[in-house]
Amino acid sequence: MTAAEPLAEGEIGVWAAPGRVNLIGEHLDYVGGPAMPIAIDLHTTVKARRRTDGRVRVWSSISDGSVEFGADTTPGDVKGWGRYVAGAVWSLAESGRTTRGADLVISSDVPLGAGLSSSAALECGVGVALAGIEGWDVDPVEMALLCQRAENAYAGAPTGSMDQLASMCGSEGHALLIETASLPPTVKPVPAHWVEDGLALLVVDTRAKHSHAGGEYGKRRAQTEELATLLGLETLASAPPDAVLKVEDPELKARLRHVITETQRVRSATRALAARDWTQFGQLMTASHVSLRDDFAVSAPELDLTVEAALEHGALGARMTGGGFGGSAIALVEADRVEAVSAAVTDAFTRIDFKAPRTFVVAPSQGAH
Ligand code: ADP
Repeated sequence: MTAAEPLAEGEIGVWAAPGRVNLIGEHLDYVGGPAMPIAIDLHTTVKARRRTDGRVRVWSSISDGSVEFGADTTPGDVKGWGRYVAGAVWSLAESGRTTRGADLVISSDVPLGAGLSSSAALECGVGVALAGIEGWDVDPVEMALLCQRAENAYAGAPTGSMDQLASMCGSEGHALLIETASLPPTVKPVPAHWVEDGLALLVVDTRAKHSHAGGEYGKRRAQTEELATLLGLETLASAPPDAVLKVEDPELKARLRHVITETQRVRSATRALAARDWTQFGQLMTASHVSLRDDFAVSAPELDLTVEAALEHGALGARMTGGGFGGSAIALVEADRVEAVSAAVTDAFTRIDFKAPRTFVVAPSQGAH
């Protein structure tokens, strides 16, 4: 982001930050591993008006009324959806960038709680809007980490950095190869040509609710930390394949197996993406799902059913995306099979009385702007 002139009192600007879909490399962004997300063509839009009285007032289309707090807010002050906004204000202030005040009007076409990172889109949208009205020049990776801090320490969800990095750093026509072994993490855009090759990335929002503030996500994090300590490793993703032999507890062994094999799958997927080998890429996506279902145990019946139905109807690969326990799945399908696969998944859901899913195609898009 380049620094611009700060807005004058009462002046208005508009910023937008996208949701994301992770192609492969799941639950690795907090164990020092790689991930390969894309920013998607669904956005949270933040219309911001300069104030100078040290107050922030926020309206969102999801809620009646507004939320108001001071620019010196601290974790715990603001609850509910406003805590993602207050979290971004707080985190930026912690980095020495205290806003002089703003009115923020939020709208979004990223479905909420669907595992497509509407919360990261909100934090990043607010982050770039505040930077814009103040004229701050904030590097996108730094902004992503500040927004991750908002999510962790203010909103109370112990997630890694992938969601905010994808929302901040997305690039049209590219996937992002994220490496979290070092801090700050590195982000490299890699060309993603499936559209030119006649394929589409179908998202199935299963409408099975997930929550990262819930206990299971935190439990996985704790288990990976326990494993890293047990194996004497700084980052669990660096564990060699034979490390599984050193772990006796069957549940921990399975968690470690996911981390090791998923890391290897991202390496293979990077090669497949570069070679435009979609058969191989699809197989890796499906293998990732199996690992998340059986070894990491973060899938849900709706996600498994989506993957099964999509594969049965010709998808090259399919997997849950995001933290899991509900949310969305993705399938790589030939463009002219999108309707058939969507219909097959919907039909499978209605046959066993699951709520009808929402299906749509996404494309790799630009990050927050
Ligand atoms: P996900 O990020 O996968 O969509 P989360 O549960 O992490 O799911 O975040 C969803 C929450 O983020 C919502 O329940 C709401 O509190 C907040 N949120 C996201 N988008 C908006 C928005 N446009 N307006 C207000 N709150 C939002």
